[in-house]
Amino acid sequence: MQYETVIGLEVHVQLQTRSKMFCGCPADYQNAPANSRVCPVCLGLPGALPVINRKAVEYTIMTGLALGCRIPGYSKFDRKNYPYPDLMKGYQVSQYDLPLAEEGALEIDLDGAAKSVGVMRVHLEEDAAKLQHFPEAAGDAYSLVDVNRAGVPLMEVVSAPDLRSPEEARAYLVTLHSIMQYLGVSSANMQDGNFRCDANVSLRPAGSAEFGTRTEVKNMNSFRAVYLALNYEVERQQRILEDGGRIVQETRGWVEERGVTVSQRSKEHAHDYRYFPEPDLPPLAVAAGWVEEIRRRLPELADRRKARFIEEYGLPRYDADLLTGTRAMADYFEAALALRPPAGPDTKTFAKNVSNWMLGDLSRLMNLENRDITEVRVTPAHLVELLALIDAGTLSGTIAKTVLEEAFTSGAEPAKIVREKGYSQINDSSVVEAAVAQALADNPQAVADYVKGKETAARFLVGQVMKLTRGQAKPELALELVQAGLVAIRDAEGTP
Ligand code: ADP
Ligand code: MG
Ligand code: ZN
Repeated sequence: MQYETVIGLEVHVQLQTRSKMFCGCPADYQNAPANSRVCPVCLGLPGALPVINRKAVEYTIMTGLALGCRIPGYSKFDRKNYPYPDLMKGYQVSQYDLPLAEEGALEIDLDGAAKSVGVMRVHLEEDAAKLQHFPEAAGDAYSLVDVNRAGVPLMEVVSAPDLRSPEEARAYLVTLHSIMQYLGVSSANMQDGNFRCDANVSLRPAGSAEFGTRTEVKNMNSFRAVYLALNYEVERQQRILEDGGRIVQETRGWVEERGVTVSQRSKEHAHDYRYFPEPDLPPLAVAAGWVEEIRRRLPELADRRKARFIEEYGLPRYDADLLTGTRAMADYFEAALALRPPAGPDTKTFAKNVSNWMLGDLSRLMNLENRDITEVRVTPAHLVELLALIDAGTLSGTIAKTVLEEAFTSGAEPAKIVREKGYSQINDSSVVEAAVAQALADNPQAVADYVKGKETAARFLVGQVMKLTRGQAKPELALELVQAGLVAIRDAEGTP
């Protein structure tokens, strides 16, 4: 039998706010010493009262708007009850029936064809603490709790069951990830757990209108892992169905090392969360004016920016794709364009030039050192300076690559590197000689003056050589060669 795959994704995104969701503790727990970002509120001590983080609400509304959601005027928080050692209060403050945003859509690109994937809701909750397990290797097994992560704002984006293959699921995730980055609401680093995905998947006979029983797969920390886990799960379910078996609704975990999913808990053991409105927090009245103000501040997202790069700068689609891969990359590119020298090449030529260097040598160096554009010491201004040195004929393309490499390592300005290392082409005496010959030929009056004994005429001619070489000739060399040229002329004319 032919089966159709049905996938819906629940994505948890940690928000990049300064403080936690309901207390004043710093939210930058990632590199902080264990249990150094805690207070009575996020420790869940009795009597401690939460206060809503306005920025987190704003970021969630902003995300909702970017996903075309409706922002209801009224929202509230609810308690989701379950006992677990990483849950300090014994409940998580989340949103149940009145999320901050609902009924949106995300457009994904499937080899040039667009597909709209429904977004059921975007809601706000708090992250849990982190358990560190120490297995029995050293005797008794034990676990430690680090509360730093408890109470960090966590946004959940729930897709409709509209995805029809692991490829579509991956495209959805990549696009959502890019939107988070462009909005600047999260660092959205999957490895660090800032962007986590639970994947729901089921199969149904092709043509059937009803959904099949689903499993939920957790614990994947890369796009690739989500893709592989879904492929595995689709095959596993298909085998069971083909053998006449039934799918058990359950939560399964992806085991990266073995490339398999394993059962974690079945529906029978599913929690009854006993949701009820959080009595310690007021409901939220979301003012329409505030929503509109946030909407006006929405940045241009990757898709629109890509189209604009093609339209406005005449870039090939390939370049535009890579340059808008991350917001930081696109920002770097446009920062460089803004520095285009007025007398330099036109916008489109310049744009392609900047693109070539960014996607060529700069990207090569970044890959080599495993750095992203935000960690690169060559600033847009440095790159533009390098391009100007090439345009001016000071640097050949080959030397320019060397200069870029040094700038990449040291962070020094290209012009400074060229000066200090004498990389300028015009250190070469044959080049300066040619400029001297030209200066002498172009200025017969000055040469005649010199021959008549007016020594200052030599200084004027050196100035002409500097002009011809755009200031790049070594002054001492220019003077030496001008004098030698003049003496030769004078001697040839036999005048004392
Ligand atoms: P729960 O709250 O129990 O996790 P929801 O109805 O909120 O359930 O759905 C959670 C996710 O599961 C959503 O992303 C949804 O699209 C997806 N989903 C629901 N039913 C199915 C199904 N039969 N197959 C695949 N995904 C599904
Ligand atoms: Mg779920
Ligand atoms: Zn706290």
